[in-house]
Amino acid sequence: MSAKKHGFKAEVQQLLNLMIHSVYSDREVFLRELVSNAADALDKVRFLGLTRSDLRPSSEGGEPGIRVTVAEGTLVIEDDGIGMTDEEALKNLGTIAHSGTRAFLEEAKEKGTGAPTLIGQFGLGFYSAFMVAEEVVVESLSALPDAEPVRWTSKGEGKFEISAGSRTARGTRIELKLREDAKEFAESWRIESIVKKHSNYLPWPIQVNGTQANAARALWLEPPSQVTDEAANQFYKEIGMDWREPAVRVHLSVDSPIQYHALLFVPAGKPYDLFHPDAPRGPRLYARRVLIEEHARELLPDWLRFVRGVVDSEDVPLNVSREMVQKTPVVRKIREALVKRVLKDLGKLAESDAAKFNTVWAEFGVLLKEGYYHDKSAHGELLLPLLRFRRLLGEEEDVIGLSAYKAAMGEGQDAIWYLTAESRAAGIASPHVEIFRKRGWDVLILTDAVDEWLIQALTEFEGTPLKSVARGDLKLEEDGGEKTDVSGLAPWLKDLLGEQVAAVRESSRLTDSACVLVDEEQGMSANMERILRQVNQDVAAAKRVLELNPRHPLIRNLEQLRTRGKVADAEPIARLLLDDALLLEGTVKEPAAMGRRLQDLLLRATDQALGG
Ligand code: ADP
Repeated sequence: MSAKKHGFKAEVQQLLNLMIHSVYSDREVFLRELVSNAADALDKVRFLGLTRSDLRPSSEGGEPGIRVTVAEGTLVIEDDGIGMTDEEALKNLGTIAHSGTRAFLEEAKEKGTGAPTLIGQFGLGFYSAFMVAEEVVVESLSALPDAEPVRWTSKGEGKFEISAGSRTARGTRIELKLREDAKEFAESWRIESIVKKHSNYLPWPIQVNGTQANAARALWLEPPSQVTDEAANQFYKEIGMDWREPAVRVHLSVDSPIQYHALLFVPAGKPYDLFHPDAPRGPRLYARRVLIEEHARELLPDWLRFVRGVVDSEDVPLNVSREMVQKTPVVRKIREALVKRVLKDLGKLAESDAAKFNTVWAEFGVLLKEGYYHDKSAHGELLLPLLRFRRLLGEEEDVIGLSAYKAAMGEGQDAIWYLTAESRAAGIASPHVEIFRKRGWDVLILTDAVDEWLIQALTEFEGTPLKSVARGDLKLEEDGGEKTDVSGLAPWLKDLLGEQVAAVRESSRLTDSACVLVDEEQGMSANMERILRQVNQDVAAAKRVLELNPRHPLIRNLEQLRTRGKVADAEPIARLLLDDALLLEGTVKEPAAMGRRLQDLLLRATDQALGG
């Protein structure tokens, strides 16, 4: 094969420019990236070896592993992994394969010069070598019996070259000619300490200049009591999932009836792709240390997709399709057990360290609510004590659980009251909560889209019903103050407003506002309607009941205008009253028409002021 020059794709070149000119201070992470690629390659060949006997053996015939050597400005990383054919080298090392790298590039484009600070958060794969190397030479030989060795070289500036290689054993050797300002990485003590720091628990031996530098333990197979926080947390970071310490660790070791080990983590923060529909999810699945699947979706429900880690089981059938794996009783049982343990451990955290639990809730609460809605029958009991909500009483960020709410219920209060709203600010400003604030009764303010679904599943808690403050005919009459009889005004208004409202009636839920729109006992809430419209669903506008505050002076005045026959004055005010109610709930449907009505009214007011 003659040498062939190739141009990098534009986005690879952008990435390389960022790498080459990076002033990122933790450049050492390039080694973690290359070593973890080597470990992946070892995982892959071991997996392939389960079903094929014609693969090339590893170099010295000894135990496969990773060897790092440094000498005079050069750093070499060599593995006995699956290797690459020339086609694979062209494809894998000429485009961006790593999903994290793609996400990094997107953020970097958005943030411009701030990009280098992002490097450590993403894991940039192979190209991070160019943070420290002025030239990279890859020699690889695929484990497949008929493959030819390949050589890939690049100085990172626009082009790379592929030619026939000279490697005779399977695996990959990556040579970095270190940049003048990166000579520190040619010191073996430095490399050893980086390996210990970032790759200590990779389950493959890593030698640095002939000495094993990492612990190479499969932590998940060890007895949970013997695994320290430090080791577990480092393991979590190493398997490339996060640069932060995890918030919760769940370690199970079960022997019968099904044998499995699981070391799972709840991250401290959302992974960047948590809400990308096709993001990889699910823990790694091993069978006795052989990596079977990088992301085993079937091992956790979708709503626990933020949980990371490793599951190792010899009992999972390997020679059936993914879809079949999901349906096997073994996988179903492991999955149920994992869900239960994760939820139980979260429950323990909620009890022992509420502040920490609340940070987990802030990141992943939305998904736990989704879980309640989807899996109430199987896991509702464990999820219930985890649910947290924003509230009327307290500060913006305060959250409260259902049992704490119940314990603090006021005298005569027989329901857990909630309001679904676009934001907490909108919720606490709503006329619906006035009477509750006055009574000192708390109201859960539900601001996530999923809440509308959650409350359909969550109708009561330990015998106490959950009720919307915005729904139905509320009877929370407050005494005192002069009351206007609205028995004539209400039907008059209904006539005037016609189909725009379902009914008009006297309110017993208002203290300060003149009127409010109320959801009917059955049917869609205003908030649900808003959410569905946001996702472009065509929903028929639900009609709402207009409630009038009989103690409000505006209602008194309106009634007087009406009874004195001043219809020309009363009508525009009545229409604006409905506009105002819509404004208060944030759903004015015809703002232009409302604007005109307002101007007419202002004209009258100014005329009157001038006349009087
Ligand atoms: P990622 O590892 O996330 O896929 P990288 O940019 O790090 O992204 O690597 C791109 C691809 O190059 C890998 O997916 C793999 O196919 C190949 N590759 C990189 N290093 C090795 C190696 N040491 N052995 C075999 N293949 C490798």
